[in-house]
Amino acid sequence: MSHPKYRPATLLVHQGKDRDPATGAATVPIYQASTYHHEGGVSGEYDYARSGNPSREQVEEAIALLEGGVRGFAYASGMTAIGSALSLLKSGDHLVASADLYGGSWRFITGVLPQQGITVSLVDTTDPDAVKAAITPQTKAFFLETPSNPLFQITDLRAMVEIAKENDLITMLDNTFMTPLMQRPLDLGIDVTIHSATKFLGGHSDILAGLTTTADVGLAKRLKYFQNAFGAVLSPFDSFLLSRGIKTLKVRLDAAQKTAQTLSERLEAHSAISRVWFPGLCNFQGRELHFSQATGAGAVLSFELKEELQVKKLLEGVKLPIIAPSLGGVETILTHCWSMSHAAIPAQDKLQQGISKKLLRISIGLEDVEDLWEDLDSGLR
Ligand SMILES: *Cc1c(COP(=O)(O)O)cnc(C)c1O
Repeated sequence: MSHPKYRPATLLVHQGKDRDPATGAATVPIYQASTYHHEGGVSGEYDYARSGNPSREQVEEAIALLEGGVRGFAYASGMTAIGSALSLLKSGDHLVASADLYGGSWRFITGVLPQQGITVSLVDTTDPDAVKAAITPQTKAFFLETPSNPLFQITDLRAMVEIAKENDLITMLDNTFMTPLMQRPLDLGIDVTIHSATKFLGGHSDILAGLTTTADVGLAKRLKYFQNAFGAVLSPFDSFLLSRGIKTLKVRLDAAQKTAQTLSERLEAHSAISRVWFPGLCNFQGRELHFSQATGAGAVLSFELKEELQVKKLLEGVKLPIIAPSLGGVETILTHCWSMSHAAIPAQDKLQQGISKKLLRISIGLEDVEDLWEDLDSGLR
């Protein structure tokens, strides 16, 4: 890593390499090649693109620098990043995971891992005693998400690390919602940080991408081995777009967070809304804990409507947000969690977790706050 002494805003712009080492070009080019010439039969720095590519290395170095890892890894999607981190487990192992998870993570953890002989307990990780009680002699790792999605439950990362250390477990955290700018889990002792870079890091709703990083040299070796063996790497073109997105993360996130704060307060006071979940609200449950391990509230909030009928009206009435299962783009994205982001979770489980049909999630984009408010307010009437 070339310049770890810089502060995050500078790292975002300059990343691991701030110009093409070969030509001095202002951006690292899209090295669109599958293989590399072995001069005289001898491999150089690169030999085959699954194992290494300069465009991909650009974002792999960036995430390691931003999170304080020894090495970063870029994958074809956030789910690949999650699956690759979970490849640290083997048949016979047991995983403890947060019950309130991103829908795709829930599907992978409950649907795929058991087929590989890995048993799973989904527990309320906001309760350290429940986590301790779920540990068995086979438990090898924790898979966590905080704030959770869509109900913004806050898990005490320091407490999780302490329990994990006592039991010799690997801790993994999906840090997609906070990004390395607002939450640096490796500093708190988390072993592996995971991102869906499709969201804030990419930032423009134009790629699927995933990242992992770790501060542990042994884990980095195992992640590298799996990345090369499995081969679900991020393409050179998507790496270029991700690197470009990362450069503006701070200004985008700062602006979106400010708008999210204003809108969360106005939505909370709105007569059509029964509840708003956003860490920036004064009465947010878990606020103190969240701000003890993160520096911002983020730019995503959830709210519940009083009447189920109003969901359809709102989704038909709003003009600015795209209505879709995603977040972290320059455009505001409105999600009906029940039928979109959390569609993979059976109705009974959703209801048990508190995800009702009246729940909506909104990822605030970079539009003017007043335009967004007028649009939402008219959709809620
Ligand atoms: C979107 C998302 C994922 C999955 O990422 P993809 O890039 O869609 O594969 C995982 N975790 C969280 C929190 C997400 O929002």
